Amino acid sequence: MTERNQGVLYVVATPIGNLDDLSLRAQRILAEVELIAAEDTRHTAVLLNHFEIHTPMTKLHDHNEAQRTPALVKKLLAGDSLALVSDAGTPLISDPGFNLVRAARAAGIRAIPIPGACALIAALSVSGLPTDRFVFEGFLPPKTAARRLRLQQLQSETRTLVFYEAVHRLTESLSDMLQVFGSERRAVIARELTKLHESVRQDTLAALLAWVDSDSHIRKGEVVILVAGLAAKRTAIETDKILTILLEELPVKQAVALAARLTGGKRNTIYQRALEIGKLSNI
Ligand code: SAM
Repeated sequence: MTERNQGVLYVVATPIGNLDDLSLRAQRILAEVELIAAEDTRHTAVLLNHFEIHTPMTKLHDHNEAQRTPALVKKLLAGDSLALVSDAGTPLISDPGFNLVRAARAAGIRAIPIPGACALIAALSVSGLPTDRFVFEGFLPPKTAARRLRLQQLQSETRTLVFYEAVHRLTESLSDMLQVFGSERRAVIARELTKLHESVRQDTLAALLAWVDSDSHIRKGEVVILVAGLAAKRTAIETDKILTILLEELPVKQAVALAARLTGGKRNTIYQRALEIGKLSNI
């Protein structure tokens, strides 16, 4: 339970482009708290000036968060309320704040979310890709080998994949996705959301790569990349076909190992399926 005389840590989402997206509640909280912990105080100053909010700020970014956290928790324990903001969107979502929220909660401080803009949710909501189940992968590793390895691990993921990406790596990342997921996999590039040049384009990875290569304007601004998950039904049918053929020629163990390699599926799942196919064919 939070003590009455303790402060509250508000985790406040800020706009990802359009300043009108700062909610009325967010405006009120930012004006009322004793202190705002901001990723970049100069950046947040523009937002605060726009709304004529004069609350003092302190810096809280990736490089000082661990060191600053104890002092901020102390302030909260002493009764000061604090708002945590990042440069854009929801704090902690590929942004600083995790250390502070974890430490505040561990100290019994109440953390209250003030929800608002988040690029991944905004992009997903208009992508036209399935939204019932999705995986947020944040930023891919910047180095090619690590990036490809990460993508390979996601090759047979059936949920919609959502990535943040620095726009100067857009071409490289799309090429790697094309290599790993295949040129025909559908994907979406959501650019400059809530801004003047907003665009959301869905196509195959091959067509999206050609589009990005064709126009240098597309390689500016901010992007979210979404990739359709591997069609689950098709995979199951394909796996069954492959497995049935292999089982006719090979012992179960070998057939399962080969089918797992060919489909990218899990050995245990394929083994279970092999047993079921075996039983069916014995009837
Ligand atoms: N915390 C933020 C949020 O809630 O979306 C994300 C911060 S992360 C450091 C920045 C990345 O978010 C960008 O590289 C881009 O992938 C995505 N992003 C942020 N604003 C965007 C916008 N207006 N349009 C498209 N993508 C955006």
